[in-house]
Amino acid sequence: MTAPPGLRNFVDNRFVDGVAHFDKISPVDGSLVAQVHEAGREVVDRAVEAARRALEGPWGRSTVGERAALLRRIADRIEERSDELLAAEIADTGKPTALARQEVARAAANFRTFADVVAATGMDSFMTELPEGRRALNYALRRPLGVVAVIVPWNLPLLLLTWKVAPALACGNTVVVKPSEETPSSASLLAEIMVEAGVPKGVFNVVHGFGTGSTGEFLTAHPAVDGITFTGASATGAAIMRAAAPQVRPVSFELGGKNAALVFADADLDRAVEGLARSVFTNTGQVCLCTERVYVEASVFEEVALGLAQRARELRFGRPDDPLTTTGPLISLKHREKVLGYYRLAEQEGAHCLAGGGVPELGGGLDAGAWIEPALWTGLDNRHRVAREEIFGPAAVLIPFTGEDEAVRLANDTPYGLAAAVWTRDLERGHRVAGRMRVGMSWVNTWYLRDLRSPFGGAGMSGIGREGGTHSLHFYSEPTNVCVAL
Ligand code: NAD
Repeated sequence: MTAPPGLRNFVDNRFVDGVAHFDKISPVDGSLVAQVHEAGREVVDRAVEAARRALEGPWGRSTVGERAALLRRIADRIEERSDELLAAEIADTGKPTALARQEVARAAANFRTFADVVAATGMDSFMTELPEGRRALNYALRRPLGVVAVIVPWNLPLLLLTWKVAPALACGNTVVVKPSEETPSSASLLAEIMVEAGVPKGVFNVVHGFGTGSTGEFLTAHPAVDGITFTGASATGAAIMRAAAPQVRPVSFELGGKNAALVFADADLDRAVEGLARSVFTNTGQVCLCTERVYVEASVFEEVALGLAQRARELRFGRPDDPLTTTGPLISLKHREKVLGYYRLAEQEGAHCLAGGGVPELGGGLDAGAWIEPALWTGLDNRHRVAREEIFGPAAVLIPFTGEDEAVRLANDTPYGLAAAVWTRDLERGHRVAGRMRVGMSWVNTWYLRDLRSPFGGAGMSGIGREGGTHSLHFYSEPTNVCVAL
């Protein structure tokens, strides 16, 4: 047996050791994927210093055109090495190959999109007219924020990391990236790609480790970090906000959700059930945009519930490379314990479980993996905890409603505000209801259809700010207005 790879930190374009090691375990079968070098405080300091130095060098004087060209070279290299990135994502997450393939393609698209956006986006300018024919020219310049800390979760590791790194580099920042401790592999490969594409020393750095009391906390509390962009749980966002507060540093947060789907009786029900199945079960429910609350107009409640339960029974668990596999494991046994806790809670709260709700017996060497059945619950309402708290697994509560106003009220009755999906054939109603959702993203007759130029983010406990297209440029740059008296 060959030894698993040791994943090291990446500072100033060199791989460096950490202060300790931790094991990355496969959620598929419990095997060892990699031994990872935990950065600790000293390596974080070196990474931030390298990122600062790079701002003072040629990178700090690079043009938008040069950076856009660099982003395109990175995208090309991602495609050339897509098989390795795919293998890394699959080893860390256990997700089916087809799903991981989409994620790698999105990583390349992230770099190309922000190359286009930064090259095409100007800034405000005003000719200011003063008394007696005097005039002044006002124009805004875009300067980088500086050193940006990028902290990402494990559910879509490469997609979410590049979603932040691409616009940060497009705007001329340097970054120190901390991937999740559960998914360290693709970030290390991306570091190699950065060197191959010609990213200068210190511009892209990777530090591995955990959050509280470890690399994540050392990075967000570091006084030489100028801004923090974070995707992850709302409670972690609150902790990072405290770390950012003393120096009043800007934060961009993409946080948790408890997303609703609204199915009206006039919907194309086959299409709605198909869409619901995707939105509840994709990535084993581990997408921030996944639906965990399904509100169905009472007259079609039973038909929709039975249809979705049938889809749950059709899910196929299996190894990622089996073409018949539709559904991978959860990310870890620890996360499965959390999700199973909600399964037990639903039972205590009096739910009727329409499908699954346990741990599948798979055999074939998979028993040490983090496998879980989906769960669909009826008989509950918005007061129950499983209808209020983010579970982040393949589970949803189904609740009937009567009339549009009640549907909107129920959907908006949550401290979160990330995404919603409305299913109806009445497009007028679709526009109206989608616009009444207190969320960052509202879909009509679809789910997770993205245009990377559009704003992405959440209201309430689901986040602060928006990224995507020019919205990302706003966060990753600092405008300076120049006023010239003419
Ligand atoms: P998490 O918050 O536990 O961890 C995310 C990252 O933060 C990890 O890299 C972790 O090591 C780090 N971290 C943890 N504590 C920290 C601290 N005190 N200081 C600095 N860093 C710290 O989240 P997770 O379990 O990895 O991911 C799941 C969560 O992410 C869910 O809540 C999900 O909804 C959310 N999410 C949101 C979006 C979005 O776009 N809104 C996208 C994906 C996931």
